[in-house]
Amino acid sequence: MTFAGGCLCGKVRYQTNAEPLWLGHCHCSMCRKHTGSLVATWIGFPAGTVIWATTEPTRYRSSKDVERSFCPACGSTIGFHRVHETSLALGSFDAPESLPVAAIQTAHVWYKEHVPWFDTADDWTRFAEFPPQRAEELSALSGQHIRG
Ligand SMILES: [Zn+2]
Ligand SMILES: [Zn+2]
Repeated sequence: MTFAGGCLCGKVRYQTNAEPLWLGHCHCSMCRKHTGSLVATWIGFPAGTVIWATTEPTRYRSSKDVERSFCPACGSTIGFHRVHETSLALGSFDAPESLPVAAIQTAHVWYKEHVPWFDTADDWTRFAEFPPQRAEELSALSGQHIRG
């Protein structure tokens, strides 16, 4: 399956044929600021599997092991980049409605920072921070060079 998408103005376009690693709503305060939304919906792919068709998004290093990206022309949120993984903002997909959600590992993360009056009606697991195995993996990678 090919996933394609891009920003609002069309300057940044991407596609990938990779299997999604996970799909999650992140409620952390940094994702709120980065996206301007109460929740950021990310879908993760192995680093290097996302092909930038035209211009690459501009990156901003928001923590030691994370870069966040956006279109340099229209500012649309595009990605969340770690050394081993490129997550794309699901709202930038051309057809998020056709995503095979049931076949993907899903979760809410950083739910402890969620805005109390905002919630969604799904039954995905709500983790206070990251799922335990992912927190371990991320701490092992922390500080490594970002290439995704
Ligand atoms: Zn744009
Ligand atoms: Zn977040």
